[in-house]
This record gives sequence, structure tokens and C-alpha cells, in this order.
Amino acid sequence: MQALDEKELLIQKDYIKQAKKIAGELEQKLGHKPTFAIITFGCQMNARDSEKLIGIMDEIGFVNNGEDEKSDFVLYNTCTVRDNANQKVYGRLGVLSNLKKKNPQMKIALCGCMMQEPSVIEKIKKSYRHVDLIFGTHNIFKFAELLVTMYESDRMVIDIWDNTERIVEDLPVKRKYSFKSGINIMFGCNNFCSYCIVPYVRGRERSREPKDIIREIEALVKDGVVEVMLLGQNVNSYGKTLESPMTFAELLQEIEQIEGLKRIRFMTSHPKDLSDDLIQVMKHSKKICRHLHLPLQSGSSRILKEMNRRYTKEQYLALANKLRTEIPDLSLTTDLIVGFPGETPEDVDETIDVVKQVGYDNAFTFIYSKRTGTPAAAMENQVDEALAHEGFDRLLKVVQDTAKERALMMQGQTMEALVEEMNAQDDTLVTGRLSNNMIVHFPGDASMIGQLVMVKLVECKGFYYLGERV
Ligand code: SF4
Repeated sequence: MQALDEKELLIQKDYIKQAKKIAGELEQKLGHKPTFAIITFGCQMNARDSEKLIGIMDEIGFVNNGEDEKSDFVLYNTCTVRDNANQKVYGRLGVLSNLKKKNPQMKIALCGCMMQEPSVIEKIKKSYRHVDLIFGTHNIFKFAELLVTMYESDRMVIDIWDNTERIVEDLPVKRKYSFKSGINIMFGCNNFCSYCIVPYVRGRERSREPKDIIREIEALVKDGVVEVMLLGQNVNSYGKTLESPMTFAELLQEIEQIEGLKRIRFMTSHPKDLSDDLIQVMKHSKKICRHLHLPLQSGSSRILKEMNRRYTKEQYLALANKLRTEIPDLSLTTDLIVGFPGETPEDVDETIDVVKQVGYDNAFTFIYSKRTGTPAAAMENQVDEALAHEGFDRLLKVVQDTAKERALMMQGQTMEALVEEMNAQDDTLVTGRLSNNMIVHFPGDASMIGQLVMVKLVECKGFYYLGERV
């Protein structure tokens, strides 16, 4: 951590103290401990950011009740990867507007990727004046300071940064699970895929120092964590911005040495940066889970070029074949976009062909969503919605059939599962996750949560298994 960031940590710790006083005064005024809700939209990066925001609110002394309509302070950690994510937030702000008329003490705040879009800020300033605080993705570490400023101000507080080099470590964190945790290894993205808004809202790539990552994981393992998910928009380009560069494969080898850590997962990988070293490290690892998420997006080399993905259909297939050969028990999942500008039914056929050749264990399939400010949004040949849906349905059928076939191949095998929670529908069952990311439900109780147990996969139910402990 740079000297500047160490200094910043002390400054923020001081603001946490000031905020504690405000929380005490609020308790007097309200007659109860002030409550908060942090609602998270979007990806695991956002989920991890929210764990930091919740950690700070806990430290300040607010009570987490998790319900936005019943809280004294509400924060939406937003996503903007597709337009419907934005619409959801505007909808919630509408609901809160009426509640705030009845309860003027209520404070409303917004952060996350959607707030990095200037047009969104203008819209909120004009149409959602009941919002008290807005900040972005680059200054989350200043949350305590912004909270104090908000409570001391009678106007909307807005603090959005275009970019940052800053990485402030060791702020309070409240993780969702006791036995597993997401770990940011890097922030931002330099790839500028033509449909994607992320580089504009998450900034340039910057990697955390390996020693800070190791130190954080060691502390988590001491605190009961057995599985970590290493997070980055493109983990394969980890380490390029470090004073003494280190590759992602080398970082994984360091993390593998941590005593008590049982499982390592990571996302997201970009195919153009997936090295032979990484494949060999995964192959020989005892802890790296047998699952790789490798977004393809499209199987048409012509469309991949328009997307600025910087690999062709053939290169992707060669990589997938190498992975399947070197790590035969690897589960491969992917992201697929249908309806990208200029796409034809023949291009969708190309995507279907890759799905069949690779045989994905699962795939997240999306219809292209125009994001203002991205190159693709300015492309003329936007695809007709009905045609996009037709392609989407054709592709989804193949994805589901392929995934079911793959799942069926494991029937009867015994595998290790990490018990994650009680089954939501049946309280005699627990839900576990296999190393290959497949879900299995089997008889058990809450005392098993967080344990690694051996399970026989008895019956395949398409995208999950019913099993029994052995
Ligand atoms: S790699 Fe491409 S799709 Fe992924 S976050 Fe970066 S720009 Fe977006």
C-alpha cells in the first residue's frame, strides 16, 4: 500500500469516529439505533464492494436491517451493464420518494457503476432530488467521509471521480459468508470491448500488491474461510501495473501455499490473455477449483472483430480444446451475446457451432443491450428485436441441451462439496457446491455449513444434482 493510501486509511478511520457520534445523536432523535440497508445490483465485484460498505456501516454503529423501505439510511450499489439494471434503480427511487415524504429523516444514497455515467447524474439531479448522496466506483474507500459530509449538509452531496490509482487497504469488511469470500485482486479494465460500458465506469486496470492479497487471504483463513474467489474484470492481465510485475499464474502459485485454504476460484478470464502457464498451474493445483468461466460472447469471427474481442473463433476453439485436453475434469462456462449490431442468423449459427464443439457446462446468454457511450451503440446496423429473440431462443435450446448432457456424465460419481446453505425449499436438505461449480442438494443440517464433505451424485436434475453424503 502506498504511503498516500496508508495516510488515507487513518483519515477514514477518523471519519468513522465522527460518524459514530452522528449515529449516537440520531439514536437520541429517532429513539432507536439508526438502521441501514445496502442493496446490491450486478456482479461479484459489486457484491464485494458492498461487503466493504456494510463493514463501515457496522463499524459506525448503524443496524443492518437489509430492507430499503424500512431503513433510516438506504444505499443502492448500482450496475449499468444493461439498461434494465438502470430502470430497476429508478423504480426503487420512485418508491422511496413517497416514503421519504412521510419520513424526512430518511437518507438515500447511490453508488456503483451507473453513477459513473454523467447523463445519469444529470437525470438524478433533475428528477430525483430526494437523493442525498451520490458517489462512484473509484472512491468507495471515502464512504465514511462522504457519510459525515451528507449528514452535515442540507444539499445533495455528489462526489464522482473519473479515474484513480488509489487502492486503500484494511477498511472494515462484513462478508456475506463465514466460510468463503470474494477477494479483489485488481480493478478496472483496458480491453474496451465495443459493447461494454465497464472500462468507462471502472477505469484503467490497476492490480493490488501480491503481499496485500496474501495478507488478506491469510487473515480470512484464520477467520474460518476455506474458499476464496479472486475477482477482476480480467484476472489474466493481473500484475501488469505493479512496480515488480507478477503474472496471474505466479500469484495463484503463491496463494496455493496458504495453509488452511482449501479452494481457489477466480473470475473473469479473457481468452486473449489465458496463458499456457496458467493452464499448467491449474492442472497441477490441489486447490484451484475445476471450473473456468471463459466468455466467448460470439462464435462468429466477423462479429468478434466488431466486438474488439481480439481473438477468432478458431483461436478460441484451440484454447478450449487445450483446456479440455490438459484438464479433462474442467467445467467450462461462458457468456454469450445475441443481437450485436450487424449480426445475421448465420453468425448465430457460428455461435451455436462453438457451443456444440466446446460442450459448455453452462452459459449465461444475453440479448445485446445498447449502452450509450460505447462504440457499438453508435453502430448503424442495430439488429431488429424480433430477429435477436429468434436467435436467442435457438441458442438457448442448444446451451441447455449441451449443459444437461454434460451434467448427466457425472451421475453416480462421488465428489467433494462445500456445504453453502440450507436448501430454500426443503429444510431436511443442504445445498453444496462441487469444485466444478455444480450444485448438489442432499440430506443434512445447518451444522454442516462451511464444511467440505464427500457426496454421491445420485440423480441429475438438469442443472443440479440430488445426492447423498458418503
Ligand atoms: S473484458 Fe471486455 S467485456 Fe469484460 S469488462 Fe473488460 S471491456 Fe467489458
